[in-house]
Amino acid sequence: MGHWPPTMPAPGELTFAEPRRAKPPRHLADLAPDERRAVADELGEPAFRIRQVATHYFGRLVDDPAEWTDLPADSRLRLAETLTPRLMTPVRELACDEGTTRKTLWRLFDGALVESVLMRYPDRVTLCVSSQAGCGMNCPFCATGQAGLTRNLSTAEIVEQVVAANRALARGDVPGGTGRVSNVVFMGMGEPLANYAAVVGSLHRMTDPVPDGVGLSARGVTVSTVGLVPRIRDLAAAGLPVTLAVSLHAPDDELRDELVPVNTRWPVAEVLAAAWDYAARTRRRVSIEYALIRDVNDQAWRADRLGELLAGHLVHVNLIPLNPTPGSKWTASRRQDEATFVRRLEAHGVPVTVRDTRGREIDGACGQLAAVAEDR
Ligand code: SAH
Repeated sequence: MGHWPPTMPAPGELTFAEPRRAKPPRHLADLAPDERRAVADELGEPAFRIRQVATHYFGRLVDDPAEWTDLPADSRLRLAETLTPRLMTPVRELACDEGTTRKTLWRLFDGALVESVLMRYPDRVTLCVSSQAGCGMNCPFCATGQAGLTRNLSTAEIVEQVVAANRALARGDVPGGTGRVSNVVFMGMGEPLANYAAVVGSLHRMTDPVPDGVGLSARGVTVSTVGLVPRIRDLAAAGLPVTLAVSLHAPDDELRDELVPVNTRWPVAEVLAAAWDYAARTRRRVSIEYALIRDVNDQAWRADRLGELLAGHLVHVNLIPLNPTPGSKWTASRRQDEATFVRRLEAHGVPVTVRDTRGREIDGACGQLAAVAEDR
C-alpha cells in the first residue's frame, strides 16, 4: 500500500485538493515537550519559563498573562504573544438541553470557521472536536461533506477547543457545577486521519499530563474515521490507546461506495481488517458507526450481513438516527425498522446502542456541523 495522501496520484486513486494557505500561528500546544527547549533558546528564556506558561495554559486554565504572577512582569506579555497567541475567536454560542449541550462556532486566524460541541452528562463531559475546516470525504448524507475541505487545523487549533471547553467548565458556564472535559470525540468537522500528523500531535497534547498537556485519559478519546486504512494502521502503531470509531454505514461495497465514497479506494473488507488489527494491538473495542437511513441501509438483510461481518470481534455498534441535512432526499429510519435492526445485530451477539441525538435543535448533532450555515 502506497503513501496516503499520495504525492503523485496513481491512476484511479482518489486525491483531495488541499489549497495552499498561510499557517496558523505557532502555539505552545503545537510543541512536544522535547521541542520546548529550542523555543526557549529562541526566545532567550530559561526552559522552565515555558513550563510555567504551560502550567497556566493546560493546568490552571489562566489565559490572561496579567495573572501569570510567578513570571517576571516585563516578560509576561511577550511570552503570551509568542507562546499562546489567540488561535480562535468565538463567533456564536448556542445551547440546548437546559444549557448542558453547547455548540460553539469558532473563527480561526484566517477566517476559516469550525465548530465544537460540548455535552454534559451526569457522569462525564464529552467534547466533540473538529480536525479540519470542512471535509474532503464527500459523504452525501453529511452536512460538512457538502461544502468540501477548506484546510487542515493545526495541532494547537485542535487542542485549544478542549482547553477552551475546560475554561468554560472551570468558570461554571455549564450547568452542573465546575468541571473538566473527560471525553473527546473527533466527530466534529473533518476527517481526522486525513490530517494525521496534527491529529496525532493533538492526541499527545490531550493525553500528556499537565503541564505537558491536558491530562485526559487516552481511554476517553475516540478518533472517528471514514476508513483511511494506511492511517488506521499508523495509528495502531503510534501506541496511543485511543478508541477507534469506523464510519461504516453499510456492510456491502455497492452501497458503501455511494455513502462513503472513499470506500472505492479501501473497501469494507480492508477497513474491517485494519479495525480488527487495531483492536488486537490496542485491546480497545472498536466502535462501528452506522447512520440509519430510511430504506437505504436499514433493511433487515443488511443488519444480518453486518452482524455476520462483526460477530466474534472486539466491537460495538453505534446506530445513529440520520440527521437529515438541508435539502437531503434521505431521512431517519422508521422506529420499527430501527428496532428490527437492533434485534438482528443482537441475535448475532454484537453489542449495539442507538445514539442519542443531543443538540439537534442547535444543529449540533452528528453530521450537522457545517459552519457555512452561519450565512444562511
Ligand atoms: N470524518 C469522520 C468524523 C465525521 S462525524 C468520520 O467520518 O468518521 C462523526 C460521525 O457522524 C460519522 O460516523 C459520520 O458518518 C456521522 N454522520 C455524518 N453525517 C451524519 C448525519 N447527517 N446523520 C447522522 N450521522 C452522521
